[in-house]
Amino acid sequence: MNNPRPYRRTGVFDFCLGDAPGKALPTDVERALIIGLGGLGVPSAIAAARAGVTRLGLIDPDPVELSNLARQVIYREFDLGALKVEAAARYLRRNYPALKIETFPFALDDANGAMIEQFGFVIDATDTPATKFLINDLCIRVGRPFVYGGVLGTAGQAMSVIPGHTACLRCLFEYPPAAAEAASCREAGIIGPIAGAIGAAQGDEAARYLCGRELQLANRILTYDAVRTIRSRVAVVAPREGCGCGAWNANRIQPNAGI
Ligand SMILES: [Zn+2]
Repeated sequence: MNNPRPYRRTGVFDFCLGDAPGKALPTDVERALIIGLGGLGVPSAIAAARAGVTRLGLIDPDPVELSNLARQVIYREFDLGALKVEAAARYLRRNYPALKIETFPFALDDANGAMIEQFGFVIDATDTPATKFLINDLCIRVGRPFVYGGVLGTAGQAMSVIPGHTACLRCLFEYPPAAAEAASCREAGIIGPIAGAIGAAQGDEAARYLCGRELQLANRILTYDAVRTIRSRVAVVAPREGCGCGAWNANRIQPNAGI
């Protein structure tokens, strides 16, 4: 394929070109890492690829299971049993030939977490609170921006975090829920279109950051709710005093400012 960025001038994705028509996108020096290739990771990968992200890292330890096929639309029956990172990479390479993909078939943990330093932006597409807080803390520690995403039952949320500058997950929730309270997605179920919308928003945030555009969800949280009809809203999230991320101090109005 001659055009290395076939989607950069298509429809709604033109935002990457900003105010300067024809402005070249950044070269592929930056990479996005998608942690989790399930209900959120699949739509976020597609959205990121279509919006101009040129290098993706995919991390997930699990194989494709039959229950994944309904919601995680890139997997097919012939992928059953294959690692999700390999099946997803096959799909993405076939549909976005210019995209460079690296696969990591293991779970992110504290021991290997330093790998996120190799990436310019991180997408949290996992489904357990403990892993979400691990990603938050790792990204804060090494200064990597990321977008949190979560879906449970009829609701979904997404929020971007620029470490030390905007509210983080611990500013919002402070602590993960106790294990007994944390209903897993596997048990509670999720609504496919909600996961699709949240994942797509996450992919867009990655593309915005890597294209040098303003994040839409920094200090703001997007919520989708589908109790009756699908409803979306965006609420402001302020950094929390006392949170170890440092965003509250960075945003505090100094008493002597301007004197
Ligand atoms: Zn914080």
